[in-house]
Amino acid sequence: MFENVNDRRVWSSDLSNSFSVSDFGLQVTKIMEDESSPQAQGRLAWKNIVPPRAQLQVWFLLQGKINTKERLFRLGATRIEDDRCILCKEETETVEHLFFCCKSSSNLWYHCYKCWDLSFCLPKDPKTCLLSWVGTPFKRFNKRLWTAMFYVVAWTIWDIRNKMAFQDFKPNWEFEKKRLFWRLGTWTKGWCPNFPFAPGLLEDDLKVVRGWTGTRAPRRGRLC
Ligand SMILES: [Zn+2]
Repeated sequence: MFENVNDRRVWSSDLSNSFSVSDFGLQVTKIMEDESSPQAQGRLAWKNIVPPRAQLQVWFLLQGKINTKERLFRLGATRIEDDRCILCKEETETVEHLFFCCKSSSNLWYHCYKCWDLSFCLPKDPKTCLLSWVGTPFKRFNKRLWTAMFYVVAWTIWDIRNKMAFQDFKPNWEFEKKRLFWRLGTWTKGWCPNFPFAPGLLEDDLKVVRGWTGTRAPRRGRLC
C-alpha cells in the first residue's frame, strides 16, 4: 500500500492494530451478543448457504420441536416403548443429548473442529452451539463453509438417527465423517455453481478449499 514500508498483519478491531487474546475474546462476545438479540434469534436458522430443508430442520432444532423419543414419550405418543437414545441406547433421547452430548454424534462435531484447527468444548444446547459456531473469526468463503457445516452435521445426525430407527441402519462412523464433507460440497455447489472442488475430495483438499476466493455471497433464490 505504501512505498518504502513493509507489509504487516494488523488486528483491525483494536486502535493500536495489535492482536491480543483479551480483545479477541471481547470481539467473539460482541458477535454472540449481537446474534442473541430477539431480531437475530428469529433470523438465526436462516442462512442462505444450505438447502431450505436443512434450514428448516435447524429452525425446528432451535425451537425444541424435534420429535426425539423423549418428546414423543412426554407427549404421550403410543408405540414408543422407551425414551432411550437410539444411537447409544444409554441416555434419554433429548435434543441436547442426541445432537450434542451423545458420544457418537458429538464425535462428528469434534471432527469438524479438528479439520478447521479449532479447539473448543462443544456447547450442550442448540442455540449456544450455533451462536458459538457462527462466532468464530473466519472470513469470507471459509466463514460460509464453516457455517454451512453446522447444518450439515445437524442434518446428518438426524438422518442417521432416523435410518437407525426405521431402517435397521448400522452406521460406520468413520464413513459418516467423510459423508459430512461430501454433503458440504454437494450443498455448496447448490448456491455456488462454479465451486470447482469435487465433493468427494473436499476433506482432503480442505486447506485449499477454505482459502478459495472465486465466489461472492449467495443471493436469495439460488439454492437448490
Ligand atoms: Zn446417545
